[in-house]
Amino acid sequence: MNKWVYTFEEGSAKMRNLLGGKGANLAEMTNLGLPIPQGFTVTTEACIDYYTKSKTISEEIQKQIFTALEDLEKKQGKRFGDIANPLLVSVRSGARASMPGMMDTILNLGLNDLSVVGFAHKTGNHRFAYDSYRRFIQMFSDVVMEIPKAFFERILDDIKKTKGIIYDTELTAEDLQEVIKRFKQVYLEKKGEEFPQDPNIQLIDAVMAVFRSWDNERAIIYRRMNDIPGDWGTAVTVQAMVFGNMGNTSGTGVAFTRNPSTGGKGIFGEYLINAQGEDVVAGIRTPQAISRLSEEMPKVYEQFLSIANKLETHYRDMQDMEFTIEEEKLYFLQTRNGKRTASAALQIACDLVDEGRITEKEAVLRIEAKSLDQLLHPTFDLQALKDGELVGQALPASPGAATGKVYFNATDTVLAHERGERAILVRLETSPEDIEGMHAAEGILTVRGGMTSHAAVVARGMGTCCVSGCGDITIDEEEKHFELGGVKFVEGDFISLDGATGMIYKGKINTVEAGVSGNFRRLMSWADSYRTLQVRTNADTPADAANAVKLGAEGIGLCRTEHMFFEPDRIPKIRRMILSKTVEEREKALNELIPYQKSDFKGIYEVMEERPVTIRFLDPPLHEFVPTEEKDIAELAGIMGLSVHEVKATCDSLHEFNPMMGHRGCRLSVTYPEIARMQTRAVMEAAIEVKAEKGFRIEPEIMIPLVGDKKELKFVKDVVVETAEAVKLEKNSDITYHIGTMIEIPRAALLANEIAEEAEFFSFGTNDLTQMTFGFSRDDAGKFLSAYYKSKIYESDPFARLDQNGVGQLIQMAAEKGRATKPGLKLGICGEHGGDPSSVEFCYKVGLNYVSCSPFRVPIARLAAAQAALNAK
Ligand code: PEP
Ligand code: MG
Repeated sequence: MNKWVYTFEEGSAKMRNLLGGKGANLAEMTNLGLPIPQGFTVTTEACIDYYTKSKTISEEIQKQIFTALEDLEKKQGKRFGDIANPLLVSVRSGARASMPGMMDTILNLGLNDLSVVGFAHKTGNHRFAYDSYRRFIQMFSDVVMEIPKAFFERILDDIKKTKGIIYDTELTAEDLQEVIKRFKQVYLEKKGEEFPQDPNIQLIDAVMAVFRSWDNERAIIYRRMNDIPGDWGTAVTVQAMVFGNMGNTSGTGVAFTRNPSTGGKGIFGEYLINAQGEDVVAGIRTPQAISRLSEEMPKVYEQFLSIANKLETHYRDMQDMEFTIEEEKLYFLQTRNGKRTASAALQIACDLVDEGRITEKEAVLRIEAKSLDQLLHPTFDLQALKDGELVGQALPASPGAATGKVYFNATDTVLAHERGERAILVRLETSPEDIEGMHAAEGILTVRGGMTSHAAVVARGMGTCCVSGCGDITIDEEEKHFELGGVKFVEGDFISLDGATGMIYKGKINTVEAGVSGNFRRLMSWADSYRTLQVRTNADTPADAANAVKLGAEGIGLCRTEHMFFEPDRIPKIRRMILSKTVEEREKALNELIPYQKSDFKGIYEVMEERPVTIRFLDPPLHEFVPTEEKDIAELAGIMGLSVHEVKATCDSLHEFNPMMGHRGCRLSVTYPEIARMQTRAVMEAAIEVKAEKGFRIEPEIMIPLVGDKKELKFVKDVVVETAEAVKLEKNSDITYHIGTMIEIPRAALLANEIAEEAEFFSFGTNDLTQMTFGFSRDDAGKFLSAYYKSKIYESDPFARLDQNGVGQLIQMAAEKGRATKPGLKLGICGEHGGDPSSVEFCYKVGLNYVSCSPFRVPIARLAAAQAALNAK
């Protein structure tokens, strides 16, 4: 018989996969003898079973839940559903990886019309009892029955307004009885049945609702953003309730053992007197700093500190803890390794190494590679900041500098982001529904909420700048405007946020690039000592190359030569080359292009010194280069000495139905060998000159794109060799050069053994390889992929995270076939995946020599490569 339910005593921290993070840690804390309200956990396997059985919960699982419940009743000395002294429980989610705020929680379960009366008598606190019941109805209706929260909030607001009060805590027992009556009326209207009175039914429905919440939209988005597989499922923890809302000697809070924003040592947290958990996280009342507790309840504070220390020592990491004080008695409800900003993560990892608690290897494994992205973003230019107009200040909830246009809801923010704008999401408070908008935003500003509010926690997790709890703002979200410091902001107005100080400025403020220093540099040097995979960069200009070297790039894996012509004064020249009708015209156009190209190559060689540089020959998909705008066509006509009509006709003749599969890559050089000839000359002359001028040992690497056959590669290679040898002769140089190819067409992967005969290296162009393997257009897939995520057909964007099952097979096969022909064949990757941690790990496993990614992702790839090597041991 399968065991689906474990009491806390039966579990341990090692059982995370089965019990979820919450269940495993509650079990561990129970075993450590800490004050934990007891309970049990329904396993993640039960969740998977629920989904395989068409979203039903089996008799056997139900039986085991009720057996565990009986055990809990005995421990607590109370009965579930008892009229005089009912046992109440919380029902909470807990996946293997923590997903704060993404799934659902129900508190005070077990109350009904009768037991609430007994509960009131037993506790002698009628207000508290009815408050607990109204919260339960609200949460159950929302989470289990999916009746929108707004219906209930409106009733609460109505009653508060009639009574002329502001806070929920000011409602009397009688007011709350009225609230309950009206809540139940809403339930009846919406569901066509009475609010369920049988606690057993409440419990099973709640467990199923938590299972269901594993697949809610925000959880799916969160999983995609954090690479969490959809088949892990969530566990459900059922725990005896303790009450922070029993009056002024009760309360509830959230605390971290170190500062999650900066990593600074010392307890950091907040609590609210007379409140339940969701009040702190929702950020409706602004909580007090945890240090205040030392004055309000010194004994409780002391005990709290001692347990917090014990937990951090036990887990050897910064803990994020939830606690409740019930009439001066302290309980811990949860502990987990706390989410933190990247700079806090580095500070904590370095401190723990210095404190002798973890090794350097462990420190390297502790940092989430992707999170380094946060440190690579710009900060405000100090001079520009001095001149900025300060309009307000609030809590520095998540660091970073953000400048952008204000938007008032998640949808508008996402749309603005898609239009290429920098957007700042301004909200009264954020809720988990806002997740996509928060992700798309450069920065987040909220009116309500403390340092542990939803906005703050989620923003820190994402590395998005956030300033929260700005009570000075008057906002109208519906009408899309707000006022702060005497300034009115409407949708689209610019604002700047400093997440490190909490300062809010009017207008745009310039930013400066970030660098690698301090803890960052220290951790990266540890990482580099374990790494075997090399990390190169994709850079097309000397400036990008210089930046990448600063960030630790060991070479250039991809220089896209067509990108060198994106600047406004250059683009007409490449267009002219593309539109040329005769060899003479084309050569003339190329002759104009080559000086630019040669000087860029020289600049790149100078910056890269003796590091390897792979120059990829022209690959301009025609739809990206052929002009479409009237003014561009007119300009080109002027340059080419043709009529607008003639240029238009040429453009029309070049029109392709599938430009991504069109006349691009090496196909251009097969049709027009003069292109390869000219580019080879530019590369060789640049390398020879820099070698002579600077004394660097340079060995140019020339890469031929979009090859599908050995003969095709050979054709272009012959042109390259002939030209290169001629240049060498002219310049009297003995320079060595290498010719390789990209593997980015499935056919090339299939015939890699043959292609390797003509190639000195392969670089996997996984952007095109993904496009051609899936048959998804790189430019259009975004339009339909969200339907695939929703239907769980695909969990992530295959253009961002390498599809190891499919495309990965082609890579592995091509690597093996290539090396079967040439054992020492150098292998790399230069598609976008080269900077994605899980893809980097795959590249390490299949034995590539290097990954190449955009400059800002170089440190991420370095860390991911070190982690891959350490994890493989
Ligand atoms: C690729 O296809 O992966 C690649 C790096 O080339 P491009 O993105 O320029 O097509
Ligand atoms: Mg490509």
